[in-house]
Amino acid sequence: THTDVETRIHQLSASVINKIAAGEVIERPASVVKELLENSVDALSTRIEVDIEQGGAELIRIVDDGEGIHPDDIELSIASHATSKIADADDLFSVRTMGFRGEALASISEVSHFRLRTKQHGQQVGTEMEVNGGIVKEPKTCGCPEGTQIEVRQLFCNTPVRRKFLKTQATEFGHISEQFTRVALANPNLHMVLRHNGKTVYELPATHRFIERLELFYGSELAQNLIWVEAEHEGTRLWGYVAHPSQSKSTRKGQYLFLNGRWIQDRSLQHALGEGYRGLVMIGRQPIAFLFLDLNPELVDVNVHPTKSEVRFRDSQVLYRLMLSTLRNKFLSMDLDSKLSVDR
Ligand code: ADP
Ligand code: MG
Repeated sequence: THTDVETRIHQLSASVINKIAAGEVIERPASVVKELLENSVDALSTRIEVDIEQGGAELIRIVDDGEGIHPDDIELSIASHATSKIADADDLFSVRTMGFRGEALASISEVSHFRLRTKQHGQQVGTEMEVNGGIVKEPKTCGCPEGTQIEVRQLFCNTPVRRKFLKTQATEFGHISEQFTRVALANPNLHMVLRHNGKTVYELPATHRFIERLELFYGSELAQNLIWVEAEHEGTRLWGYVAHPSQSKSTRKGQYLFLNGRWIQDRSLQHALGEGYRGLVMIGRQPIAFLFLDLNPELVDVNVHPTKSEVRFRDSQVLYRLMLSTLRNKFLSMDLDSKLSVDR
């Protein structure tokens, strides 16, 4: 009973395509915060401030002091598949930046009231652009400091089903705070601030000592019970802090793994971590760890998931063994019953 018109194929409009893409990448306010923070990191910022109102449903504002966007590229920055980070397919296998898909700003500006202000080093004036639900206003000049400021108001204003599914302010802010934490732990050299409804939640001064940043998040009790680990295998480096077995948790929420500066989730490496602590933490308890893997980007495919939180390693067995043996050797070499002297 289909009419001819209904069965014919047509190209979807850019607006519909962007809304579909937004559905994949932008699930909730925290996804916006993640994407914008990663852009600020990629822009080599030294200071990033995040302001949130009402769990992000009302306002998400990120201000950085990074490289900014060239005035002629402003409109391109919110086009889909437009990026300054990769140029050809080969680059996909040597990605060193957080972003490369060129989809975040297109998606976010399609489903919100979006305003961008940016000024590059050496420019006389800044440029401002507003986009309302994908409808772009002509960019104009404005006064602003060097760097980029992005405001996202009324997220999902034109996708009411998504907006209705937002949880309470506290829940949404909890997710935002977690995304902020991941970026902050991976980048202790950045001064970072997070505020909610005008109240400062985190103010993190830049430091070159990772443990100082850990201490601001988790307190000195945990910091005094951290054990430094470090290992290398054929150019792949594993390093960071693991907690004394007495500091375990009931969930995996104290486990952070970063691959080349990006927070990732990896079942196999989580398992290796658990095995490393086998017999040292009680059944049902989870160890606490903040670990970094630095490896040649050609040995990992980060283009398997839209949010890049899951990756595919060329040889995950090697990494599994590296993680397990590093922990085992460390624990064997220590007297776990004596008071720890933390290697700072
Ligand atoms: P991607 O990060 O994958 O390149 P985005 O949609 O997140 O895609 O951003 C598009 C482009 O806009 C980036 O490639 C970058 O050139 C520019 N851009 C976005 N945010 C910033 C920022 N905070 N500072 C400087 N440039 C930015
Ligand atoms: Mg990006």
